[in-house]
Amino acid sequence: MPALDDSVQFVKGIGPKKAKLFEKLHIRTLRDALETYPRDYEDRTVLTRIADLGAEDKYAIRAVVGTEPKVSRIRKGLTLAKCTIFDESGSLPVTWFNAPYVVAQLRVGQEYVFYGRVQGWGRGRQLVSPQAEKVAPDADAPGRIVPVYPLTAGLHQRDLVHVTDAALAAVPGDWPDPLPAVLRAKYRLLDAADALAAIHRPQSTDEVAAARRRMVFEELFLLCCGLQQLKERRKADTGIVFSDAGLSDYLAALPFSPTGAQRRAIDEIAADCASGRPMNRLVQGDVGSGKTVVAAALCALAAQNGWQAAFMAPTEILASQHAETLAPLLDKLGISCTLLTGSMTAAQKRSALAAIETGAAQVVVGTHALIQQGVTFHRLGAVVADEQHRFGVAQRAALSAKGETPHVLVMSATPIPRTLALILYGDLDVSVLDEVPPGRSPVKTYAVGESMRKRITAFIDKQVEAGGQVYVVCPLVEEGETDLKSAEQHAKDLQAALPHRRIAVLHGRMKNADKEQVMHDFAAGQYDILVATTVIEVGVDVPNANLMVVEDADRFGLSQLHQLRGRVGRGARQSYCVFFGADKGQTARERLKILCRTGDGFEVARADLAQRGPGDFFGRRQHGLPALHVADLASDLALMQHAREEAEAILQHDPTLDGYPELRERVQRMFEERDDEAFN
Ligand code: ADP
Ligand code: MG
Repeated sequence: MPALDDSVQFVKGIGPKKAKLFEKLHIRTLRDALETYPRDYEDRTVLTRIADLGAEDKYAIRAVVGTEPKVSRIRKGLTLAKCTIFDESGSLPVTWFNAPYVVAQLRVGQEYVFYGRVQGWGRGRQLVSPQAEKVAPDADAPGRIVPVYPLTAGLHQRDLVHVTDAALAAVPGDWPDPLPAVLRAKYRLLDAADALAAIHRPQSTDEVAAARRRMVFEELFLLCCGLQQLKERRKADTGIVFSDAGLSDYLAALPFSPTGAQRRAIDEIAADCASGRPMNRLVQGDVGSGKTVVAAALCALAAQNGWQAAFMAPTEILASQHAETLAPLLDKLGISCTLLTGSMTAAQKRSALAAIETGAAQVVVGTHALIQQGVTFHRLGAVVADEQHRFGVAQRAALSAKGETPHVLVMSATPIPRTLALILYGDLDVSVLDEVPPGRSPVKTYAVGESMRKRITAFIDKQVEAGGQVYVVCPLVEEGETDLKSAEQHAKDLQAALPHRRIAVLHGRMKNADKEQVMHDFAAGQYDILVATTVIEVGVDVPNANLMVVEDADRFGLSQLHQLRGRVGRGARQSYCVFFGADKGQTARERLKILCRTGDGFEVARADLAQRGPGDFFGRRQHGLPALHVADLASDLALMQHAREEAEAILQHDPTLDGYPELRERVQRMFEERDDEAFN
């Protein structure tokens, strides 16, 4: 019998050819198979009588085969089999497509549990391609919970079942459990071996739930332990020491006085940088809370202390915009600011790269390519990553691996519940900007339908007349979507309606240099209206813009709409936000109304989280954490809280987890996996 670390090809009936297919599912060994959980379960414990079948759905039906299956070849590669089954309440036609295995085992007069989809109505009603399991003559509860595994072409459920059977059989009696027994008892969690058995071969849906709960706890606990250790380990590193002597000059150079929250964050940063430990700090603040000058304070500190700073933005547009904000500010302090983007000419790039290498470039602004593609710094002392959710744990770790341990500041406008923040940013200290700069009035927000089109166009005109500027955002149009207008088309229509206004278009297919030019010109007031796809979503700052119109707003997530709204309300002028799409049904209208009601990003995020699947909110690539296989960051919040507390407690008395070898190893493995995945 093969052992856990043997290749699946040694399982009887698998062999090298199928093993290749298993590799596509990332299953090489039996252990991998054990860790590949079913993606779903079919509950065949609930049997339905033929007469009681309801709406089209999947059903488990205990019935007898009444007629010999008639097999016909429709055409090459498609065979059809038909028969009739019956129980004491009635009979039902069954059709199989290409299912010779299932059909071959059927015997007339024998009873089976059929599981499959019932389609059609009345006389046309039939059971389509069901699985069939023979019922022993005296069995009274023949139904089962059947696991459904992820598949790839050429593999069948029975192959996965076969291999996981072998894997379960190979699990030794003394299977190590990474969760300490006290925790299992405290939270009433199944032990590891039982949970594995239950997740692969559950006897009931309750068992599935119990197994899942245990797995989720384990996964979150491992994650928290790893993040916590990362944080502790960094504390042991020696950091570059920045004196804060230049801070008052920086504050004096600002064109406004900082808010209390900005001041606190800047002080926290200065204290971190003077502590002798590398800083790893997150600045979290709603859109418009003024994160840029907080980050710029770090850049100034670095330069004043003879070190370079890298300021990284998620897009080139934002990078060049940040450079435009920072350059004049830093210039007052005699600090040079250099932009490096992919759209610069070769000669420009060469000279920027040279300045970075000699150290003449003190503050360098660019995209994440600054760090990832081996730009050589003379003396890199500080790194700023704007919009943190695209700058994950792995990227942060890669920084320290560059030999130096620069101070790292990440900035995020994604408002998330505190519990979640503690996990996602578990390895960071957090400053919160919970105050908006003074003199801002809330953005007046309206959800409207097509019937308001003319009035909104007139409203756009009126805002421009009064000296404001307007964004119009259109969703990305995918092929085949005919009900939506592209940004280009929309700009044309708007130009026809407002021939005297200067309208520019910005969309993803334009060259970066062209995008930057348009953005620059809009910021400089050379256009009245900017019609754009969501490329402007993150961070664009044009304080004179005071109206945001979003077309087909029902196509966007609430948090995304909140970010878009954050593009206005940045200056003294009363700002407005108009969402089209309120006529696209009740759900759409109610969603948009949430935004009309509140301007608070946290409240919006809560509503968003409640309304959407978590996958939408925290796409895996977005948070940059190790891959989670079972836990669901949005819906497992309660368990997450416990997992984090327990991780903290255990590390407090055993920081290296020496007393928990299995736990230590599993944490290590989880974070190793991450390294391969995070960068692709
Ligand atoms: P965020 O990145 O947090 O969304 P920004 O840093 O882009 O916000 O700042 C938004 C706008 O507010 C900018 O135009 C900025 O100049 C302005 N601003 C920032 N802090 C203050 C302040 N303390 N007083 C007045 N205006 C400010
Ligand atoms: Mg910003």
